Amino acid sequence: MAADRRIVIENCAIATVDAEDTEHANGHLVLAGNRVESLGPGPAPEGLENVERRIDATGHLVTPGLVNTHHHFYQWITRGLATDHNLFDWLVALYPTWARIDEEMVRAAAEGSLAMMARGGVTMAMDHHYVFPRGSGDLSGAIIGAARATGVRFTLARGSMDRSEKDGGLPPDFAVETLDGALAATEETVHRHHDASFDAMTQVAVAPCSPFSVSTELLRQGAELARRLGVRLHTHGSETVEEEKFCHELFGMGPTDYFESTGWLGDDVWMAHCVHMNDSDIEAFARTGTGVAHCPSSNARLAAGIARVPDLLKAGVPVGLGVDGTASNESGELHTELRNALLVNRLGPHREAALNARQALRLGTFGGAQVLGRSRETGSLEPGKLADLVLWRMDTLAHASIADPVTALVFGAAAPVTASFVNGRQIVEDGRLLHVDEDAIARSTRAQAQRLARIAAQG
Ligand SMILES: [Zn+2]
Repeated sequence: MAADRRIVIENCAIATVDAEDTEHANGHLVLAGNRVESLGPGPAPEGLENVERRIDATGHLVTPGLVNTHHHFYQWITRGLATDHNLFDWLVALYPTWARIDEEMVRAAAEGSLAMMARGGVTMAMDHHYVFPRGSGDLSGAIIGAARATGVRFTLARGSMDRSEKDGGLPPDFAVETLDGALAATEETVHRHHDASFDAMTQVAVAPCSPFSVSTELLRQGAELARRLGVRLHTHGSETVEEEKFCHELFGMGPTDYFESTGWLGDDVWMAHCVHMNDSDIEAFARTGTGVAHCPSSNARLAAGIARVPDLLKAGVPVGLGVDGTASNESGELHTELRNALLVNRLGPHREAALNARQALRLGTFGGAQVLGRSRETGSLEPGKLADLVLWRMDTLAHASIADPVTALVFGAAAPVTASFVNGRQIVEDGRLLHVDEDAIARSTRAQAQRLARIAAQG
């Protein structure tokens, strides 16, 4: 039986990120099948049966795998464009190019995005995909296929846009779907791909794009659809001052009040950014259990501002980290967001008390699992939870002189990933992906980026 297969990992530091932040300076883990069976200080117990593999992890820190809570994979083939723009100008510059994507491009971009994250310690990822040009093929299927191939646990947030320029929205008319078309396609995607089981590798969320690209009716009916189907809800919210102004002008209220009025606050909702929140907005998120995907690099790249993460955490709001699309965060890595979350928030009013290294690690692991609705199953290292974990190498030039491994991981350079496991299956070894060809992906993403640029230039 595959479930009996054991992997023993020993001689490593362990940061479990459980409720007590339990750590072991020198400990062991036993994986059985796709679960963590046991862990603790010192060597593994003697006499374990069916041990398929024993890993001497001397010099390593083991943490739960990183969880990415906000991304747009397709943007992998439009990186490095509109580099000196704010959000609205950047969107207007890129929409015409994005409206030309097709299945082949989206598959390559998804492979690139996933590969970059996975080799840097991400074990659970999501893609908020909201551009579905007519006749572009099975984009959702292509994205989910890429996630399966890479081996990461995955949530597809099936996005949509139906408020174009003619309705006062930001996207051009040719880049949007109809209300009914978007709802029907979203429901079909949930039926086809969503798996509600404990160890699900693929889930689907309902995810209209943002207040300035989606009709009030799509938000309202999207929320009803998600609750009828029992899946989560995701969107962008309170990202910039321009969005705040847009909401006041069109709806006579700020983004959070607008979301509440359309059924978009709740413990089954998570929202990207949440930068421009006043005290009562934060209170509303805390009261309803609405989660936040904090994307510090993207917020800096687009000059959006600094999200009030310390205040959100103090209020009890679930917060995870997000890369965001790589057209606004060209690195595409999540481990650097641990550090950026800490540094960016220390530039805010809470200064050095804003976040510490362990809080940053929690945002990138357990917090992410919480906002994706998977914290019962993953996000911390505890017996019975899924075996999603990373072995970070801490004994090389980059980190060896830092005594505390969690400090080294968060404050130091991006740590090498010796091994990464998802669902008990190894997907990374010595920084290389085991189930996909990184060099082939690099070539295909370049070719598809060039093809998209060519097609977009033709108009
Ligand atoms: Zn985004």
